[in-house]
Amino acid sequence: MIDVIVIGAGPAGTACAKKLAEEGFSVEVYDKRAEIGAPKRCAEGISEASQDFLGKIPERCIAQKIKGARLYAPDGRYLDAILSSGGFVLERKVFDKWLAEEAVKTGAAVQANTFISDMVKDERGYYAGVKGEFLGNEFMEKARVVVCATGAESPLRNKALGVFSKVNLIDSCIQYEMTNIDVIPDLIHIYLSGVLAPRGYVWVFPKGEHKANVGLGIIPQDKKPAAYMNEFLKLHPDMVKDMVANGFVLCGEAANHVNPIHGGGIKEAVISGQMAADTIAECLKKNDVSKKALSKFNEVWWKERGNHLKRVEKLRETLEKLSDADLNDLVDALKPEDIIEFARGAKLSVLAKVLMRKPRLVGIARHLL
Ligand SMILES: Cc1cc2nc3c(=O)[nH]c(=O)nc-3n(C[C@H](O)[C@H](O)[C@H](O)COP(=O)(O)OP(=O)(O)OC[C@H]3O[C@@H](n4cnc5c(N)ncnc54)[C@H](O)[C@@H]3O)c2cc1C
Repeated sequence: MIDVIVIGAGPAGTACAKKLAEEGFSVEVYDKRAEIGAPKRCAEGISEASQDFLGKIPERCIAQKIKGARLYAPDGRYLDAILSSGGFVLERKVFDKWLAEEAVKTGAAVQANTFISDMVKDERGYYAGVKGEFLGNEFMEKARVVVCATGAESPLRNKALGVFSKVNLIDSCIQYEMTNIDVIPDLIHIYLSGVLAPRGYVWVFPKGEHKANVGLGIIPQDKKPAAYMNEFLKLHPDMVKDMVANGFVLCGEAANHVNPIHGGGIKEAVISGQMAADTIAECLKKNDVSKKALSKFNEVWWKERGNHLKRVEKLRETLEKLSDADLNDLVDALKPEDIIEFARGAKLSVLAKVLMRKPRLVGIARHLL
């Protein structure tokens, strides 16, 4: 029997697999996609500082180096926030394969084209394997722990932990990779506007001088469902409080480990996968993969990331309440360095003070305090 099966070869799954294989455990990662990392469902932006968790990202994974973000108010005014260490727009289909290769180099096995349809339990009621299909052949494989890193689509998560998404917190996104367009290549562009993207934003993430990911995410409120039929659904409901069961661990976007303000989840997925791996390794060594033992992952993740992301969520809730006129005032009142701090979820009391400079925004500011 192998030690760990990881379902999903996105950043969370391969980061988790890599760490476990480094510790000497046998790990098998399965992904239903024929090609790892493709098709992308991502604007592909990441901060350079994320390399603290990922290791140095090879040049071949980077489509464009970025020095900061340009934030546009609804009236067209903008503010440039320059990051001290910059960022990248990635080529996810190359990047995700690189992460998978890194996991394989340490000894994990990664197999694409393999759909995992279900999980199986042992005689104690612990999750202890998966059922799947590879090239038309059904199979069953046993493991001491099953990790669910299936991203936003997570029926297996729902089955194991009974966690479902809240409909009013489902972002609907659409993105085109466009070419032959004019774009300032070394800035990502974010447009705030209740008209263009209610309760969300429009993004233009350059991938060279005349190429960019152009997309928008909104939280639908009053539009007809048919309008969203062709749009990709992005789920990030409340972060999952309890991410473990007997023999089972949930990580990455499957657990809604995503930055709530901008929906960036690559870094969070990697951190979550690595933290999950640390706990799993400890539990496997003690030969105890009970829910109680695996719960250490809950503790560590909530302490290190969860509470911080909760603060960021508060900021998002605040911004969602702003009208276009408020957003104009806000962009007017902000300093470039504030934007970077707020996106990190830091200094919310400072944002409250900024909002309070505008009498109209005082009520909203109180929400942050
Ligand atoms: C429109 C959009 C734009 C985004 N832009 C950014 C951005 O600019 N920067 C950023 O950091 N984040 C961005 N994100 C978020 C980011 O893409 C995710 O948070 C991140 O990929 C999550 O990593 P993950 O490993 O948890 O899941 P995923 O990357 O989704 O990987 C999950 C994997 O599991 C596989 N899988 C699912 N079910 C099964 C199954 N039953 N059997 C086998 N395999 C299965 C899938 O095929 C997939 O490969 C964006 C998301 C969207 C939707």
